[in-house]
This record gives sequence, structure tokens and C-alpha cells, in this order.
Amino acid sequence: MIPFEYRTPRSLKEIHKELQEFGSDAKLVAGGTALIIMMKQRLVRPSCLISLRAVRGLDRIALKDGGVSIGSLATHREVESSALLQRRWPVLAETYRRVATIWIRNMATVGGGLAHADPNQDPPPTLIALGATIKVSSAGGARVIPVEEFFKDYYETVLKPDDVVSEIFVPALPANSGAAFLKFLPRTADDYATVSAAAVVTLDRSKKIFQDVRIALGSVGVTPIRAREAEALLRGQPVKSGVLREAAEKAKQAVDPIGDFRGSAAYKREMAGVFVRRALGQALAGISKKPRMSRRKAKRRRK
Ligand SMILES: Cc1cc2nc3c(=O)[nH]c(=O)nc-3n(C[C@H](O)[C@H](O)[C@H](O)COP(=O)(O)OP(=O)(O)OC[C@H]3O[C@@H](n4cnc5c(N)ncnc54)[C@H](O)[C@@H]3O)c2cc1C
Repeated sequence: MIPFEYRTPRSLKEIHKELQEFGSDAKLVAGGTALIIMMKQRLVRPSCLISLRAVRGLDRIALKDGGVSIGSLATHREVESSALLQRRWPVLAETYRRVATIWIRNMATVGGGLAHADPNQDPPPTLIALGATIKVSSAGGARVIPVEEFFKDYYETVLKPDDVVSEIFVPALPANSGAAFLKFLPRTADDYATVSAAAVVTLDRSKKIFQDVRIALGSVGVTPIRAREAEALLRGQPVKSGVLREAAEKAKQAVDPIGDFRGSAAYKREMAGVFVRRALGQALAGISKKPRMSRRKAKRRRK
């Protein structure tokens, strides 16, 4: 590795000052799990590393505006083991639990993962299916970007050199919703996905019709992919297994996988269909079949 300066600012304001001083020669470092490997391989050669770790509160996970705010410095392990997320957004806790090994999850951060933009990562499909947004802060102010608009190309995002990912916001799921994330791992349990699929399904009041559906996939293109045509096919349809199969076929048309040591492009496309169908099935199974009891009825029962 070549020598570099190391700065430890204590606030976002101080980070912005450091970024202005060093310009594009500087690199932010959060967990370091991706960046340090890239530096060792000399793929990046920053003259200064600006650590985010001394910024207090940047790892906070808390309810906000009816959803949940996750600080960019929260580690994968903190998301996985958050009691709040396990109770209210179990699909998020489950998704982060599926990342690599516990060693990596203890270090890797939510913001670092998103900024790294490896298309094989697990969290982006789930965040896209949940309709999450990313708050980005720079010296000029803050802006909010939907996760699905964040990734531009292979390891490339819409972030500018002086941008800092500060927070991820995940809205609450509407009533009668279920969510699932599935990771296809035929090699080892700590590998990147061969294919991953996330689905969020909302049924109407009768729980027989698809009211809304969001489907996203990972490891099947240069960025995470949202399967919009598959979603459109399901909206307004009665819940039947035939329609799930049709949606899975549509999802196969949306992906553009690259053949590699995890499988050929044709195999990954096939698996994309299989895992979308399974994710939809699992999301549906997570929706309570029981009709909601009115408050008055629940009170009478308790007496
Ligand atoms: C062996 C191994 C196995 C892995 N397996 C998986 C897997 O199965 N699934 C999976 O999803 N991921 C996997 N990962 C990837 C892992 O998720 C990433 O390495 C990790 O998410 C990066 O987070 P970090 O906090 O360590 O980022 P860092 O390494 O600190 O930074 C990564 C990049 O993001 C930038 N950055 C960091 N924080 C911010 C910020 N707040 N704002 C703007 N830019 C920022 C840095 O400048 C750098 O360019 C694996 C990694 C390793 C090393």
C-alpha cells in the first residue's frame, strides 16, 4: 500500500471540510471491508482516508416519520440484530444476516455497502422492494435519492466525490403486506449470491387480490434490477399460483446476468425466475390470513 493521511472528523460538517481540502484524492472509509482490499490491490490510491467512525449518532437505528431511519454507519450486524427491525421489518434483519460471515458483518456498514455498489450485494434488492431512500449530505446541503435510482453501473453510483451517505429511510409496510428476501447460494454459505430476489406484496382488504407488488433482483446485471413488468402483471390480479409463474417468466426477461464461475448467464436467468416465484410465495405466506379484529370486538373478547 502507498502511504496516506488518516483523518477522524467528529461531525458531518468536519467531514465536508476535509473533503473540500483533499478533493477527489480523498476517500471516505466506514467499515473498510471493501476499500482496504481495493487499496491493497492498488485499484484506488487515495492520499487521504477520512474515517466516519468518530461521528456520533451516525449508526443510530430509530423510528422516524412512520418508518425507520438507519444511520449510514450502522453495521450489517447491528441491522441483523436490531430488536426494532426484527419486529417491524424482519425482512431487513434477515437480508443483512445473509451477508458474508459474522466477521464481515461486524465491520461492514449500511452506507459503505451502498456506496461500494457491487451488483452482487444482498441489501439493495430488499431496500428497493421496500421503497427505501438514501439521504446524501454534501457541503452544499442534503438530498434524498430512492435506492432504485442510486446505482448507475458496475460499482458506480450517482454519488459525487464530496457526497456522504448519511441515512437510509425505510417506510412502513402498508396493511396486508408481506416481504421476503431469498439468496441462492449453491457454493458456500458465506459466498455472494448466484442470484437474489426480494419481493414486497400488498393484498387488498379481501386478501384475495394483489393491490401492489415490488420485486427486485441482485447478481443478475451490472446494477440491482427492479422487475417492473412482472409487478404490473400481478397488480389487480387474484392470488393464484398460475399468475406467480407468469410473473416469474416476466422477471426472467428483465434480467441481464453475466456468466461467471457461479453459473452461466442462461442458468442465472432461469434461477432468477425460480427465486422470484419463491420470494413472492414467501411474501404471501407472511401475510396474516386472519381478518383484523375491530377494537370493540377485541375489547369484548378481553372481558
Ligand atoms: C470476503 C467478503 C465477502 C463479502 N460477501 C458479501 C455478501 O455475501 N453479500 C454482500 O452484500 N456483501 C458482501 N461483502 C461486501 C461487503 O458488504 C462490503 O465490503 C461492505 O458492505 C462495504 O462496507 P464498508 O462499510 O466496509 O465500506 P468501506 O470499505 O469502508 O467503503 C466502501 C466504499 O464506500 C465508500 N463509502 C463508505 N462509507 C460511505 C459513506 N457513508 N458515504 C459515501 N461513501 C462511503 C468508501 O469511500 C469506499 O469507496 C463481502 C465483503 C468481503 C470482504
